[in-house]
Amino acid sequence: MSGAPSDDRDEFALIARLFAPLAQSYPGALGLGDDAALMDVPAGQQLVLTMDSMVAGVHFFADDPADLIARKLIRVNVSDLAAKGAHPFAIMLSAAFPHAVGMDWLRRFADGLGQDCRDYGLALIGGDTVSTPGPLTLTLTAFGRVGQGQAILRSGAKDGDVVFMTGTLGDAALGLLSRQGRFDRLPPSLRDHLDQRYLLPQPRHVLGPRLAGLAHAAMDVSDGLVQDLGHLCRQSGLGAVIRAQDLPLSDAARHLLADDPGLLSNLLSGGDDYEIVFTVPPEHADKIARLADDAGTSVAAIGRMCSQAGVVVQDGQGRPLDLALTGWRHFNDTRGK
Ligand code: ADP
Ligand code: MG
Repeated sequence: MSGAPSDDRDEFALIARLFAPLAQSYPGALGLGDDAALMDVPAGQQLVLTMDSMVAGVHFFADDPADLIARKLIRVNVSDLAAKGAHPFAIMLSAAFPHAVGMDWLRRFADGLGQDCRDYGLALIGGDTVSTPGPLTLTLTAFGRVGQGQAILRSGAKDGDVVFMTGTLGDAALGLLSRQGRFDRLPPSLRDHLDQRYLLPQPRHVLGPRLAGLAHAAMDVSDGLVQDLGHLCRQSGLGAVIRAQDLPLSDAARHLLADDPGLLSNLLSGGDDYEIVFTVPPEHADKIARLADDAGTSVAAIGRMCSQAGVVVQDGQGRPLDLALTGWRHFNDTRGK
């Protein structure tokens, strides 16, 4: 630990009391009592590694519940591993705590970490703890395992593949707008749904590994579907055509879109979905629904990969929506014309 807090939060006690219990299930963590952790890689498997940072005021509100901040931190990383078809098993945490963070907050934070470690089968195998004059900053590295050569990459899509996405589109982006006071008249149950989707992503960790060997390409949608699918397309040297009418929407999103069709832009470009977009050869597409059902995840076929570069979103008549200019007025033929 460096630049450690000098107040009542003794750093070694903090690690021993709050974090070491989360390391118990992993012998190589050495109880968080040594300089580093040890990791064996089982024969025939590869490690899949990812890291995501979250900064107060950027990725969450500083007064969000501490346990939910911890759980979101874990989940955004688990989502990356799921998108590669990997089984997550370990995490490392680098935490920069502002001086104002007290023991109560830290206890709740560790409780949240512990809950999701249990739920996702993870051990906390190490990290670093510092104090900062700046905002609360958390960085998590997550470790997953996948069979040698089985990871699902962004670059593997083929022309004609069916494009699928899990879950529903854009709820977290709407949740953020809702928390900023945009949807005052939204019924409370729908607002709660959106808030939850922003606060607590649901990584598709069960389905992800089952897509290995079936999906040609996959990626975690965290920065907006159009942008992220654009990355997958570029990596695969292809493009994609998406049908707006087949995009999976929650009741809350439908409710809001009925009032304001222009919100489609927020759904398509808003971040924090933590769903998986993946491509499957047409001959295997009919297997996906049952696979997803078994994994307790919904999926929707939303379009096709094509040779023409770029991501095009089409309306019900096959006309491309000019997302930047038209205010998405073709989303529903009777609206906004
Ligand atoms: P060093 O001074 O060598 O960096 P530290 O005192 O930072 O060692 O860490 C001691 C042990 O505690 C190490 O095993 C480290 O991985 C672990 N550790 C420190 N901070 C965290 C944390 N935030 N989460 C998990 N493990 C941590
Ligand atoms: Mg250290």
